[in-house]
Amino acid sequence: MIGPRVQEAALSLAEAPAYLYDLPALDEHVASVRRALGPTELYYAVKANPDAELLRVLARHVDGFEVSSAGEHAHVTGLFPGTPVALGGPGKTDAELRLPHHRLHVESPNELRRLLATGLEADVLLRLNPDLPVRGAALTMSGPFGMDGDGVAECLPLFGDRVRLRGLHTHLASGLEAPQLLELAEALLDHSYEEVNLGGGMAVSYAEPEARFDWAAYGAGLGELRGGRRLRVEPGRALTAYCGHYVTRVVDVKRVRGEAYAILLGGTHHLRTPVTKGHDQPFTILPTGKGAGVAGEITFVGQLCTPKDVFARNIETSVHVGDTVVFEMAGAYAWNISHHDFLMHPKPAFHHLGA
Ligand SMILES: *Cc1c(COP(=O)(O)O)cnc(C)c1O
Repeated sequence: MIGPRVQEAALSLAEAPAYLYDLPALDEHVASVRRALGPTELYYAVKANPDAELLRVLARHVDGFEVSSAGEHAHVTGLFPGTPVALGGPGKTDAELRLPHHRLHVESPNELRRLLATGLEADVLLRLNPDLPVRGAALTMSGPFGMDGDGVAECLPLFGDRVRLRGLHTHLASGLEAPQLLELAEALLDHSYEEVNLGGGMAVSYAEPEARFDWAAYGAGLGELRGGRRLRVEPGRALTAYCGHYVTRVVDVKRVRGEAYAILLGGTHHLRTPVTKGHDQPFTILPTGKGAGVAGEITFVGQLCTPKDVFARNIETSVHVGDTVVFEMAGAYAWNISHHDFLMHPKPAFHHLGA
């Protein structure tokens, strides 16, 4: 369900489609995450959504930002000079290895050798790709990310005065609940490092928009495991997903061989999240339309000439041409992962509520 601030803004929009970002809601959410984590440091993974207004709100609460490219690095350090950044990502170029950082997440022994060859100082966390069973994850970061125990062992003798080993970094999977993340943290903290970045991947349920990751349980659990270590987490999706809304209007309704469709302005070139994740994007219909209607199990699609342009399938509801549809949970991995130029439709407008 959308709140009154978003509803009012959606109803007063001159043009659709548009993204609405609820900044006061983001502020409140991140403040509560910050409180729940206690002494565990909180970085925001910028790749989830690099929108500058969102970053300004996040910057009031987080200890730093995790960036994964020179582009994200320039964006964040331009907005917040001097703020701590952790630079990660596979396939860093030599130029990226030279960027100033608070922490550099090294992904392989060869990357460490290239870092040493720059002659610059660096504070390194080694990204471990541990051999741990990950239950119930939406996406597991196995494969090319980080290194196994042999890779870490190869790195250890290479450290010296200029390039310093600070600890471990991991980012195991996305879509994990607090008990699973704590299980993994416990296994990882077996290693004798005094600083550990446990990554992101906190669960966000698109099927249950009201559900929230249990930050209180996670913070308390990490407190029990801490044992004097410096712990850090770097969520993306679970911080910004909820504050974003994609608002659009119904342009056509029809039945094709018995199947009901609502065709909306815009499409997955603006909001690709449901296609990439394979879910129905949750939404609220505001009855602003006076045109033709359809009722029953309706599939909501966009304006693209591809059968993949689907927001939600077979949803039991009714809808009219001209109705306003507010897609929820569109604040992370939404606009910034979408293929904006496909079919050359207009870009959405962006509105930041409470800015
Ligand atoms: C993507 C990513 C994150 C954030 O993941 P979420 O699922 O958005 O919380 C954190 N750390 C690394 C290394 C990542 O690649």
